[in-house]
Amino acid sequence: MPKMKTFHLLRWIIALSLPYASVNAQTTRPEAERTLAHDIYKEFVEIQSGFTTGATTPVAEAAAARLRAAGFSESDLFLGGASPKKANLVVRYHGTGALKPILLLAHIDVVEAQREDWSMDPFQLIERDGFFYGRGTGDDKAQAAIWIANLIQYKKEGFKPDRDIIVALTADEEGGGPYNGVAWLLKNHRDLIESEFALNEGGWGEESKGKRISNDLQVSEKYVVNFRLEVRNKGGHSSMPVADNAIYRLAAALQRLANFGFPLKTNEVTAAYFQEMAKIETGAMKEDLANAGKGSQDAMQRLAAASPAWNATLRTTCVATLLEGGHAMNALPQLAAATVNCRVLPEDSVDYVQSTLQKVVADDQVSVKILGQPAPGPASALRPDVLAAVSRATEALWPGVPVVPIMVMGATDGKALRIAGIPTYGIQGIFFDRDDIRFHGRDERLGIQSFYEGHAFLYELVKSLSKSKPIS
Ligand SMILES: [Zn+2]
Repeated sequence: MPKMKTFHLLRWIIALSLPYASVNAQTTRPEAERTLAHDIYKEFVEIQSGFTTGATTPVAEAAAARLRAAGFSESDLFLGGASPKKANLVVRYHGTGALKPILLLAHIDVVEAQREDWSMDPFQLIERDGFFYGRGTGDDKAQAAIWIANLIQYKKEGFKPDRDIIVALTADEEGGGPYNGVAWLLKNHRDLIESEFALNEGGWGEESKGKRISNDLQVSEKYVVNFRLEVRNKGGHSSMPVADNAIYRLAAALQRLANFGFPLKTNEVTAAYFQEMAKIETGAMKEDLANAGKGSQDAMQRLAAASPAWNATLRTTCVATLLEGGHAMNALPQLAAATVNCRVLPEDSVDYVQSTLQKVVADDQVSVKILGQPAPGPASALRPDVLAAVSRATEALWPGVPVVPIMVMGATDGKALRIAGIPTYGIQGIFFDRDDIRFHGRDERLGIQSFYEGHAFLYELVKSLSKSKPIS
């Protein structure tokens, strides 16, 4: 490579002349586009949209203002939601109509963050040590900002897609419940988001020790079922204890739950995931990953013991998360109750989980009741066009990094779309250190270079998925 030296020097000079000196310009969009994406991102992060204390309406309005300024007409914008504080934004970028629309989804509410819990102000976008810090930097305002910035860029270029590109920025993914924007749009304005398939959060790039190891494509997710375990007792004076005690009964039941594990197994998606991981991993786990993909119980046991994430990929899990009981220091408890949070594999039914819990608890005085109305979410079929476009865009930016289909342990709005018949793929092209995921936690952050690469990746991916023939 004789040109190496000049090439490096040139890159160095270019890097010095940019406002974001640490950004490698070769894998990112041009400076003006990066600046726009950055500014929108900063604006979104700095609006407090915590799902209990904040509001999404100012975020939706900020996005709408950007779009209006870029020439989007009022008739292509929709602002509205389940309550005045919980607005969603939907914008349509018109294509030729040869293909059904694509939906680009991101939620604009965030998990609460308190200043005293953080080492900096969570509602300022702070650049430090190569990272953007702030609540929502990873979950999910980067993707929200990128969708808007890229849509503005497509318009600027006069890009003519073969399908409409719809961006929906929605409320209350974190809180769920009555204000959830996706549920509200599906119920009240389905026409606005009707689409052939959707891209969403839920799949990101995995990095380990600074090395990019996989670009994950989320095609299914576990679903949540909460149970209440409850024991009632007539109680009495604490000076005369009796053997039948509500707290002891509940504690014994919880101890049996602690010792129990749901069966280890794989499904179509997780088997593919373990096969891909076997190609990436070196060392002791390599063989176990390959064998787990083929259904070996021994291999699955070792993987589950080695990693909480692999354990959660291989089985339904149920864990006690809240506890209540007793009513006075000097009285025998009349009530003891626990909330048990289950993350259920798509193929396991609610009835199966409930009857299993009853068997594990093994005490008919401990009632096992379902809280709320859980609904399982189907997996999205692995569309060859989506997989091909994701693989192509990944290879262009990060040669050699494989695309890995995944099922996520958490839940996203993708589930509601999948239930409604809109296949949804979690894909971001933004990489996070797999041992340092800070979504919902303190000092949430996202790598600066990774943000701009995700911006470039999604720019190409959406363009390519919006054409009937791939753009070469
Ligand atoms: Zn999220």
